[in-house]
Formats: sequence, structure tokens, C-alpha cells
Amino acid sequence: MNESLSHLGRVFLVGAGPGDPDLLTLRAARLIVNARLIVHDGLVDPAILAMARPGTRLISVAKSRAHHTMTQSEINALLVAEALAGRDVVRLKGGDPFVFGRGGEEAEACRAAGVPVEVVPGISAALGAAAAAQIPLTHRDSASIVSFVAGQCKGLSEQNWSGLAGKGRTLVIYMGVATAEAIAEKLIADGLAPDVPVAVIENATRAAMRVLRGPLAGLPSLVTQERVRSPALIVIGDVAAEPETHLRALALEVLQ
Ligand code: SAH
Repeated sequence: MNESLSHLGRVFLVGAGPGDPDLLTLRAARLIVNARLIVHDGLVDPAILAMARPGTRLISVAKSRAHHTMTQSEINALLVAEALAGRDVVRLKGGDPFVFGRGGEEAEACRAAGVPVEVVPGISAALGAAAAAQIPLTHRDSASIVSFVAGQCKGLSEQNWSGLAGKGRTLVIYMGVATAEAIAEKLIADGLAPDVPVAVIENATRAAMRVLRGPLAGLPSLVTQERVRSPALIVIGDVAAEPETHLRALALEVLQ
């Protein structure tokens, strides 16, 4: 028998939600409070890290679009090395670990090294932001399909988004601030009406949260004029309209 197996640490891939610590799952909160080692992303709110006990080792592996402190394979290697050295690792990620979080790659790396791994879901930004901005992602009257897409990823222009937005549909775009102009052009070229309602939710569930609205054609100027910064989410579809506009449209339908 391999002696070291009994001393393996475990890796917990934990979703930290969109920001507000009250939106952590109980399991996430328990793991954070009891952790001795936390490896976290830049998106994890400082108030959540502050829940860790004094003396907990906190390692930031924050990434940004322009600046990568650690590559993904270095992060994978760090998690595996700590677990092989017998330490439990709480790997904290913004939102949900399996929604645009590269949690899949980290879980694979752990499994490949024989390290036990557990995944704890979190409230993904789309769900947290929609709730905080009171935008229902689905609505019996206006949307029965919702899609999540990444606005910044390998080959945005080659991705086929046709049919993801439009009547009866809600499109939620993660990481879309820097590419807002290309996104609006792409969707309009796909046949989406330039006046489809758009909402941009910046810093959802945090003290600095902003909700900005406008038509799809105005998305690039909205983002520049309002100096929207990451993290922000773009919601496209009828549900993103001003609540009053939405109600007025419904009332008109009822009258007709
Ligand atoms: N795993 C995360 C997503 C990581 S990708 C999740 O499930 O939420 C990072 C993107 O998530 C950001 O660029 C932004 O589009 C979105 N995001 C994360 N937190 C956010 C917040 N508090 N407000 C608005 N958007 C957020």
C-alpha cells in the first residue's frame, strides 16, 4: 500500500457567489470558516475572505484580462501539490465553479493526480445579478429560454450565437464589457432588432452595484459613457426593459 495515500488532502472547489457574503451556501460558509488554506480568485469579495479564521493561509491567484499572475496549469499544479502534501484546500471561485470558472479543468487535474475533489455550487453571476436588479430571466409572458454565453473567449467572432437572443429569449453575457461593441454588431448582424432592451449590471449584489439600461444599438456607447468596469453582466431581451416599460407593453397586449 502507498503510505502517502492516507495523508492526502482534499480539494474543495467552492462557489463564492456574486459578492454579498449572505449569498454563500451554508456548505461554502462552513468550509471557509474552517479552512486552513484558501486559494481564491480576484472576484471573491474581501468580505467573504474576512470570514476565514486568523492564521488561515490565503493565496490569491487573481487573473485579469490584461494580466495573468498565474497560468491555469500553475493553479492546477498548486492545488494538486498542496493536497499531495496532505493539506485540505478550499479553492474559492466567484459565482459557481462550473460556470465560466475553469472549475472543470481544476477538477480534472485533481482526479488525474488521484486527489479527492468535491464541488460546492455557488450562485452564478447571472442569477445573483438578475435577482438584485429584479430582472426575471424567464417570464411567462416574455421569455421561456435563457442562454449564458462568454463575451470574451477564444474566437468571439467565430461563435455561433444566432437564435440565442430574440423574441421569447433572454441572453446573458458574461465577460462582455471589453467586447461590447463587437457583441452588439454581431447580434444585430444576426438579425436582432437594434432596439431590443439591454441591461448592464455592474458589481451585482455589492455596495457599488449599478444597473444601466438602453437599446442594443446603444450598448457600446452606454458602456463607454458610463465607464462600466468588470465585473459586469449584460442581459439582452424583453425582460431587461425598464419595469414600467415592460408593464406598459403587457397592458397594451391585454387591451388588444
Ligand atoms: N464563475 C463565475 C463567472 C466567472 S467569469 C460565475 O458563475 O458567476 C467572470 C464574469 O462573471 C465577469 O466578467 C462578469 O461578467 C461576471 N460577474 C461575476 N461577478 C459579477 C458581479 N458581482 N456582477 C456582475 N457580473 C459579475
